Amino acid sequence: MNIEKIYKDANAYLEGHFLLSSGKHSQFYLQSAKVLESPKVAGELADKLAKMIQDAGVDANSVCAPALGGILAGYELARALGLRSIFTERVDKKMALRRGFVVAKGEKFIICEDIITTGGSALESAKIISELGGEVVAFAALANRGFCARHKSGREPKPTCQLPNNVPFFALADFEFEIYEPDNCPMCKAGGKAIKPGSRGN
Ligand code: ZN
Repeated sequence: MNIEKIYKDANAYLEGHFLLSSGKHSQFYLQSAKVLESPKVAGELADKLAKMIQDAGVDANSVCAPALGGILAGYELARALGLRSIFTERVDKKMALRRGFVVAKGEKFIICEDIITTGGSALESAKIISELGGEVVAFAALANRGFCARHKSGREPKPTCQLPNNVPFFALADFEFEIYEPDNCPMCKAGGKAIKPGSRGN
């Protein structure tokens, strides 16, 4: 399964000058929603990810995804694994568990995102699950942006990776491209202006 081709075929591997949610700039952007608009493709990706997690012997009860980006991937992963699916969401910028979702004491969770960049949102979801008495046994994403290290990839996470070292992280592929501080961005230096993905029909 060629994940890069799947993203490109879905027009989800965008090239331009993007302002990321972290405030940094990038020449490329992965618009997972475009890939996941096909339930068939979403299901196939989730099945593959589920198999990786099962093969590693991870035992989980539930999947929790940070909204909005993680919801579809998390739901499909839960379906593939036969688990419960819940999500956390931001309320006044702070991640929270709402909508009547509950966490049982000792309930084992996989935290699932569409893309893991530095893993900040996934970590916030994981903290909520832990605070409520659950146990985070794995992190998962369709794709890894190359800052964190996938399970048994033999790579070292970059210092910006926020995922804990002692919990395995599963993803279907690595997508590595540069991100820049705005004052050090070559596209800004060339006179361009970064746009927010999704703001101009992308
Ligand atoms: Zn820029």
